[in-house]
Amino acid sequence: MPWQEFAGFPESDIAMLRPASLCAAGPVQAAFSTRRGGVSQGRYASLNMGLHVGDRPEDVVENRRRFLSAAGMEPAHMVAAEQVHGDIPCPVDAGMRGRGAFDAASALPGVDALLTDAPGVPLTLYFADCVPVFLFDPCRPAVAVAHAGWKGLASGVIRNTLAAMRRHYHTQPADCRAAVGPAIGPCCYEVGPEVVTAIGNAGIGSEETALSQKREKHRIDLPGLARLCLVASGVPEGSIELSHDCTACRRERFYSFRRDRTTGRMAAAVMLEISAP
Ligand SMILES: [Zn+2]
Repeated sequence: MPWQEFAGFPESDIAMLRPASLCAAGPVQAAFSTRRGGVSQGRYASLNMGLHVGDRPEDVVENRRRFLSAAGMEPAHMVAAEQVHGDIPCPVDAGMRGRGAFDAASALPGVDALLTDAPGVPLTLYFADCVPVFLFDPCRPAVAVAHAGWKGLASGVIRNTLAAMRRHYHTQPADCRAAVGPAIGPCCYEVGPEVVTAIGNAGIGSEETALSQKREKHRIDLPGLARLCLVASGVPEGSIELSHDCTACRRERFYSFRRDRTTGRMAAAVMLEISAP
């Protein structure tokens, strides 16, 4: 099953995308927001999820409330990370609920991936072109989400996240479902030779790295590289669902940092469901 769009929620005009196969694999909720259905204005119109990009904080908090509620998650319990284009994952427990929910200052500092085995704790990360990677281990169960731009991919954020799930929750990568969400595609992601060199030095996807070359510019396929990193870490290829939406191509649907610079963020959110008593 591919990623699917959901809209028509009773209280809002929100549209969101869900990784259908991952969501069908067990007691998990996972969603990626679009621009549609929020209250932010101007460059941030309308469903901006990022508190750190210059938008009105009260608008962002309202947008998060709308999106998470529609996704079946409790907004006040969400956890957010600072996101520094690094490779460090952070385990989250129920005592950390609300970190980064209402102000950026309380977000978990210095980390780019979140993991938990606690039900009812929505893990959230924020995106405008970088690759959102969702992980679900139905056997423990446990979930994770990672923020993967070229720096994170090259330094091993996906490998480190799966290693942390193994260390903390005894997750086996072979058991995991993974979903790679909307990100900037090879159609739009032109980079300099230093990026190609870094990806090459990291040993991931040399042939998928430089799809085309004009003068000194290369285009790279970040979602494709994320998929290769998942496979290299032991996630079965058939357990990975890839979105083919390009955030830079689709202005009406997604924010894009490469396209617009000052702009909003989409959210990736994943949560283990609280089992019925
Ligand atoms: Zn594109």
